Amino acid sequence: MSITNLETQFTTLRCAYHLERFPSLATRLDRLRRIRAMLIENESAWCEALSEDFGYRSADQSSFADITTSIKSVNHALKNLKFWMKAERRTPDLSLRMSGAKTYVEAFPKGVVGIVSPWNFPINLAISPLVSVLAAGNRAYIKPSEATPATSALLEKLISDYFSEDEVAVACGDVDVAQAFVKLPFDHIIYTGGETVARHIMRDAAENLVPLTLELGGKSPVIVSSSADLAMTAKRVAFGKYFNAGQICIAPDYLLIDAERLEPFLSELKSAVENTDSSQGSADSVSIVNNRHRQRLENLVSEGESKSGRVIKLSGNNQSAYELTVVIDPADEAGINTSEIFGPVLLIKTMGGLSEQIAYINKSSHPLVIYYFGRSEAEFRRVACETSSGGLVKNDVIFQYANDDLPFGGVGGSGMGKYRGEYGFKEFSNSRAVYKSGFIDVSGFVTPPYTDVFRMVNK
Ligand code: NAD
Repeated sequence: MSITNLETQFTTLRCAYHLERFPSLATRLDRLRRIRAMLIENESAWCEALSEDFGYRSADQSSFADITTSIKSVNHALKNLKFWMKAERRTPDLSLRMSGAKTYVEAFPKGVVGIVSPWNFPINLAISPLVSVLAAGNRAYIKPSEATPATSALLEKLISDYFSEDEVAVACGDVDVAQAFVKLPFDHIIYTGGETVARHIMRDAAENLVPLTLELGGKSPVIVSSSADLAMTAKRVAFGKYFNAGQICIAPDYLLIDAERLEPFLSELKSAVENTDSSQGSADSVSIVNNRHRQRLENLVSEGESKSGRVIKLSGNNQSAYELTVVIDPADEAGINTSEIFGPVLLIKTMGGLSEQIAYINKSSHPLVIYYFGRSEAEFRRVACETSSGGLVKNDVIFQYANDDLPFGGVGGSGMGKYRGEYGFKEFSNSRAVYKSGFIDVSGFVTPPYTDVFRMVNK
């Protein structure tokens, strides 16, 4: 996609927005249904493209994570959009109420929204924002990841089959296209990806004062309380590292556990992994997306090991791919302590006591999510009140994303803004404050010369 074409396409979307600034409920529902049809009618093509891009990606995992999850979001919006679009009445203060004034908030489309999506769930992380963007009545322009070219090309083709070019468009291309894309004068941009690129996008967006939603990553910790059921914790953490080969922004990144519980936990983790057909190359597995990422993971593990960490490989022996691996207590200076892992490697740090664990989490930027495993509500409440993160989960991993009725997003270093469900509708809407003056002329009281009535009302 050339820069000129980007601008032309953007102008097409912008003009269409100007011609239809407030699409009706029926129009929005029709667009949402077309997203659903595009997902359902092409499921096997999507799964094949995903597998081609990853080297191998289980069709069941693709279907579950990218297709079904996206369809659920469409269905949730179809069911609730009518209520989200309703103006919300607000109560004016007494003096304005006495004058007969009426106030409410109504959501209007922002205009043309840019969606910059990543490679790890290339369909869901383009479609899930798209659902919110179209529900809110906007036009959408998507820049999918160049790291998954087959899926991005399919997205471009199918979007043009199911939508007119002035409703939704896709711009495929490398980083130079991405850089030009985020310089366009959008009415809002949602970016999902890493922190370094997010800084560039913020600078570019600042030129046009474009509002941003940033869905970033980071290191999401798992606190293992002394009250935790270790077998359940191990099983669920293993799932979080196995699913999509741990290439998930909300994957458990590192685990904090009391030194005395480490060996029992490792033994539970080993049996959880043995009971899962998670080895790379198996029919239900997902490969690391490319050699660069495989190399990055290998470096994190070998450096961790060389810096006094203990390394345990938990599954399989396929030479060409990466296996579920645990790195325990590497020295502070090892990169694995600070870099987001984003793969099937689990960092374990032994440290006892909730206070110490909370202090450790608070030393770094706010994570996307904090996972707590244990039975104590009091401890869970302490974690809630003494830390900050985009989400907070007790005794599970990842499934919070499956609930469209929860906001999704980070805080601080893990991002800004929240979307999905009603939160997404609001994020991509301009919530307009509407004030309708009453039958009494309020301005008469506030215009000098001031009277006793003004002084009385002003109290
Ligand atoms: P990526 O390399 O696929 O990049 C993401 C997008 O940014 C792509 O569309 C790419 O074209 C674009 N891009 C690249 N350079 C750019 C630039 N200079 N200017 C503008 N756009 C540019 O993905 P990634 O960054 O490797 O993604 C992995 C990261 O994303 C991880 O940190 C992960 O935690 C995070 N992530 C977050 C979420 C979330 O919802 N919070 C979800 C998935 C991934």
